Amino acid sequence: MERTNSNNLFEIAKNFIPGGVNSPVRAFGSVDKAPIFVEKGEGAYLYDVDGNKYIDFISSWGPLIFGHSDSEMRSAFIEALDKGVTYGLPSAIEVEMAKEISDAYPACEMVRMVNSGTEATMSAIRTARGYTGKDKFIKFEGCYHGHSDCLLVKSGSGTLTYNAPTSLGVPKDVIKDTIVCEFNSIESVQNAIDENKGEIAAVIIEPVPGNMGVVPPTQKFMEDLRELTKKEGIILIFDEVITGFRLAYGGASETFNIKPDMVCFGKIIGGGLPVGAYGGRKDIMSIVSPLGGVYQAGTLSGNPLAMYLGLKTLRRLRDNKDIYTDLERKAKRLEEGFKKNISDLGLEITVNRYRSMISMFFTGGPIDSYKDVQRADNEMYGIYFREMLKRNILLAPAQFEAMFMNTVLTDEHLDYTIKSHKEALVEINS
Ligand SMILES: *Cc1c(COP(=O)(O)O)cnc(C)c1O
Repeated sequence: MERTNSNNLFEIAKNFIPGGVNSPVRAFGSVDKAPIFVEKGEGAYLYDVDGNKYIDFISSWGPLIFGHSDSEMRSAFIEALDKGVTYGLPSAIEVEMAKEISDAYPACEMVRMVNSGTEATMSAIRTARGYTGKDKFIKFEGCYHGHSDCLLVKSGSGTLTYNAPTSLGVPKDVIKDTIVCEFNSIESVQNAIDENKGEIAAVIIEPVPGNMGVVPPTQKFMEDLRELTKKEGIILIFDEVITGFRLAYGGASETFNIKPDMVCFGKIIGGGLPVGAYGGRKDIMSIVSPLGGVYQAGTLSGNPLAMYLGLKTLRRLRDNKDIYTDLERKAKRLEEGFKKNISDLGLEITVNRYRSMISMFFTGGPIDSYKDVQRADNEMYGIYFREMLKRNILLAPAQFEAMFMNTVLTDEHLDYTIKSHKEALVEINS
């Protein structure tokens, strides 16, 4: 097939793939532009088939903490490949991976590997239900936990952008036990618990949501949530698919100093290969098959390629903890630059940052909940995105996402991004 250009590929793709893409946000629908098709990634850059080179702030939505085609990752991959792609039987690398995660997360006494974040959260909910013998669970408005049926209620990212809080094809009966609360509001959780006394299995939360844009919780909200769930015998599940090993080596659990009962992982722990994991207290995880009655399995789960790349990533992070200081410094540099531009131009735009996660909302602040997020102007973001793209900066093609820092971004990249940010905002408002 001739790889002419992005527009051409998109036209062909639309004939064979729904919407021409394998994940909805890639269609660039909310930024009113045809998608770009990627030729290759290298370091901090992504190259499209049209011959453009971009500074990449998508980072494959989080996994690429060392940038594209990193040489150490490449070596780990080749080393793994030399031993065969998959066995369907246990191998040592899976044990090492489980131990690595468990060492970083005291909450994860036992860990089960799966193949995506979606599988991790789906299985964690099943486990919590199986363990407690209860069906109901609480999630928060604007938090995304993958696309399994019972979690696809008022979630973030694509479902926010496309204004489809739930999906067709999800039976009402399947979501009747999903209770939605307001992020950062312990009252809403207390009320839900009071109304469903003794019937709630779990609370699942993105401790620092990245899927409605970055909306940090207050320390108090996190502490109250832990205390309340403990008191009520409700299993607290942290969905750290984004935040795990990104905010700190022990993720949000470490930065907020809170020990949940279960944790879900994905993204970074596969180093760019499809992966997920869920873990938790030993008594809870002991209900998972073959030990207990909660069935969960996977043909390719714990496959050696993902384990090698993932473990390589985790060990590099573990042995170079100043990476976290560096990532945060980079996000802070952007935050300060963006805020200065915004105030110089006298605009109503809000920049939210937590550690190395940062995003921008086209509306005044503060942005503390999904309700606040909904005020943001999508059309403005679309213009901003296109103006930045013209300047060879690739942002998430949707407002309700984070910008992801990596180790290969330089101060030159960041300062160029800040300069372009100002130009783009001037352009929008002229
Ligand atoms: C990406 C993400 C998921 C889903 O992971 P997939 O690998 O895309 O299935 C779940 N939870 C959060 C917080 C995520 O960001």
